Amino acid sequence: MKRKLKLLIPTIITVFLAVLILKEPKTTIPKSIKEEVGIALGHFPELEGIPIEFKFKKNIKKSVMQAQPTWSGLIKPKNKRSYVILISEKFKISGAEFKTADVPRDVLIGWIGHELGHVMDYQQRGNLNLIGFGIRYVLLKEFVKKAERAADSFAVSRGMSNHILKTKRFILNHSEIDDTYKARIKQYYLSPDEIMEMVKEQDSLNDNGLL
Ligand SMILES: [Zn+2]
Repeated sequence: MKRKLKLLIPTIITVFLAVLILKEPKTTIPKSIKEEVGIALGHFPELEGIPIEFKFKKNIKKSVMQAQPTWSGLIKPKNKRSYVILISEKFKISGAEFKTADVPRDVLIGWIGHELGHVMDYQQRGNLNLIGFGIRYVLLKEFVKKAERAADSFAVSRGMSNHILKTKRFILNHSEIDDTYKARIKQYYLSPDEIMEMVKEQDSLNDNGLL
């Protein structure tokens, strides 16, 4: 019995790894948000050909959307990496349910743009660095701030400032949205003013032919 068990465990691990490696990841987008995702993706030509699975999830702790690399991507070379963008089906609004797919179109596009900004950031990191990223994100508040700002700046630099601003204002101006979430947005993310500042800076760099 014991010997059988000894054989079984490595077999299970091998099969598990083989499935992870052989499964060909591809981009999948739920029908209800296809257009919005398409518009956001249009701002990131660099991400063409990189498999990203957009997936609704019943509930995500502490956030509305979450971009992460897939496990299978992390054991493959960097150029074979793939990602998942999880989207919470609903927001917490003082008791009432609020579907993410029902938020104004531009707000949703901005939200997705921010997540694609995270993917841009991940694309510049090696596998080990990405694993370290996950650990630091969980442990260090300062790191969360840095990562969230990087995602916003990627989206702004790809011409999505209007969408990003709309998303931000939507969250901050909706009194019904959970206060803890709003406080988190204020603490970690760029403020509307900071985004405006960033747009101005980029415009002046553009005008000087530096970008
Ligand atoms: Zn983010």
